[in-house]
Amino acid sequence: MSRAYNFCAGPATLPEAVLKQAREEMLDWRGSGMSVMEMSHRSDEFVEIAETAERDFRDLAGVSDDYAVLFMQGGASSQFATIPLNLLGEKAGADYVNTGIWSKKAIAEASRYGEVNVVASGADSNFTSIPDQSTWNTRADAAYLHYTPNETIGGVEFDFIPETGDVPLVADFSSSILSRPLDVSRFGLIYAGAQKNIGPSGLVVVVVRKDLLGKARDITPTMMNYQVIADNGSMYNTPATYSWYLAGLVFQWLKTQGGVEGMGQLNERKARKLYDFIDRCDFYANPIEARCRSWMNVPFTLADDALNGAFLKGADERGLLNLKGHRSVGGMRASIYNALPEAGVDALIDYMANFAEERG
Ligand code: PMP
Repeated sequence: MSRAYNFCAGPATLPEAVLKQAREEMLDWRGSGMSVMEMSHRSDEFVEIAETAERDFRDLAGVSDDYAVLFMQGGASSQFATIPLNLLGEKAGADYVNTGIWSKKAIAEASRYGEVNVVASGADSNFTSIPDQSTWNTRADAAYLHYTPNETIGGVEFDFIPETGDVPLVADFSSSILSRPLDVSRFGLIYAGAQKNIGPSGLVVVVVRKDLLGKARDITPTMMNYQVIADNGSMYNTPATYSWYLAGLVFQWLKTQGGVEGMGQLNERKARKLYDFIDRCDFYANPIEARCRSWMNVPFTLADDALNGAFLKGADERGLLNLKGHRSVGGMRASIYNALPEAGVDALIDYMANFAEERG
């Protein structure tokens, strides 16, 4: 069977070339006589895999030596607690921007550790837009400002990097990391769960400016203390070795695709095609304000909800999988991450056009 186009929001499609390489290396990684899964994380072989992955990530994302890159576990959700525990320091609280479901979860968790000041909310627009920064109610004494550059469920993406002066900027890039060029030097901390643009689940990559380390509250669990993880090369305990290895293969693949510049051009083209089609065809709709439409997650509705089942069934039959929208919003959602080929978007548009013609 040939591979389907998998539009799942995460865990998401991986580059076929990466999966083939993993298959080739499965039983015997480069003459080591064993699979990466079976290696000690302290072995020379695995340390090489780990260091190469970090180097490639730094190259791709443009991360300088002023930052530590951590390969942690517990998914992006664990970071919702890890961040306040490490960064609040002596400060009473932090600023958060609420642009949808993932920001809300980050806010709820941070509220357990400090005062959360919600500086702006997309609620007024039913989360179809990003509030203009001139309207934000920020605090100069905030420990940091947290935002979600791409809301995976709502499909709304920032078209700017917030300006926060001396307040460190913290961002949940889970669903848009490495999808286009980014000036990392604007940030205090970036984090991303792996299972969209990086690799398999079980891994969360954290990029943290070194001057922000060492301020964790005493109650911080050791495994959540950035300083401890940084001092131990992300191997204080046994890391998610196989996910780390596969992430490394994805980074190498990204380099062959023109890096984040190449990805940015491709992703913009893919997204534009799909939104243009949705806007042209009366049968489909996307509610997000044009300037903040996500390049990664494209939610859309059909003119008649009663046709959702038939739409999904026909899509499945054509190998266009996982288009059902998140349970909280309904409708459809096409996640078109780095590894989802342009031909997949073309096939989706083709199917959508046919469906609208037959059933619309
Ligand atoms: N933040 C964002 C923006 C996400 O999309 C997700 C997962 N969909 C998470 C956080 C939570 O990630 P995890 O399941 O790795 O905890």
